[in-house]
Amino acid sequence: SEVFLNGSFIEASQARISPMDRGFLFADGIYEVIPVFNGVLFRAEQHLRRLERSLDGLQIPSPHSVPEWMELCRELVRRNGGGELSLYMQVTRGAPDKRDHPFPYPVVPPTVFMSATSITRSPTHDPDAALGFAAITLDDIRWGRCDIKSVSLLPNVLAKQQAYAMGAAEAILIRDGLVTEGASTNVFLIKDGRIGTPPRSTRILNGITRELIIELCDRHRIALVEREIAKAELYDADEIWISSSTKDITPIVSVDTRKIGHGVPGELWKSFARRFVDYKLSVCSR
Ligand code: PLP
Repeated sequence: SEVFLNGSFIEASQARISPMDRGFLFADGIYEVIPVFNGVLFRAEQHLRRLERSLDGLQIPSPHSVPEWMELCRELVRRNGGGELSLYMQVTRGAPDKRDHPFPYPVVPPTVFMSATSITRSPTHDPDAALGFAAITLDDIRWGRCDIKSVSLLPNVLAKQQAYAMGAAEAILIRDGLVTEGASTNVFLIKDGRIGTPPRSTRILNGITRELIIELCDRHRIALVEREIAKAELYDADEIWISSSTKDITPIVSVDTRKIGHGVPGELWKSFARRFVDYKLSVCSR
């Protein structure tokens, strides 16, 4: 496969960066993941705007304009054959010649890396066949700027690994007794036909899929409120969904080994999954 590194498209096996890169030494960088569906970048404008906000949050000057980023993304998709891809982008504060905490002076150019790897369609595309996944809850031990899509993901990595070790697919994170989000997903809770999801804040990543779910609920007059969700509400929910760009909307059927609803993907999820996929197909057909 081909990747983009600092201005050039090259074979992935040829890509090299310096061990002095601040991404490597300090996790001093940000990333973005854009899903590609039928060869079409899905919600790319939203992802690129979030990329710019993340760069702003770290005071890294954006090395490309949004139209330039867009063209680089399209070219990378073309070079990797289109279809279903996960397009990954990372920007770090670059590689100065010495390791020192403050921003490098004189300034060095940021390191830009982009790759596109093929992915399979999520269970959202076949709701009747979906089985649902288990989740566990864990303390949210992350920093105070979870709205920045930083590559500093150690707490997320450890949480996800603990979930996997316990036979679960996701860790739902709890701060001060409240649900924040999953290790790599946003969380939705359904009770008595009403959908709830934690409000936008610096405690969560404002997921592009989360925003789309809110938009689609609005358009189809489905009741959704952004509100705080207590940990205890999880066990009593009718349905729980998690969302992300590469997994769309996934039903959670147990939390901490306790059955959610009937322990199978819920009816609201099934009907919403169809609407979600219909929308995706309508935007990504050509
Ligand atoms: N929350 C976290 C911590 C994430 O890492 C992600 C994505 O990977 C999400 C939420 C979902 O965001 P999006 O829907 O933009 O993929």
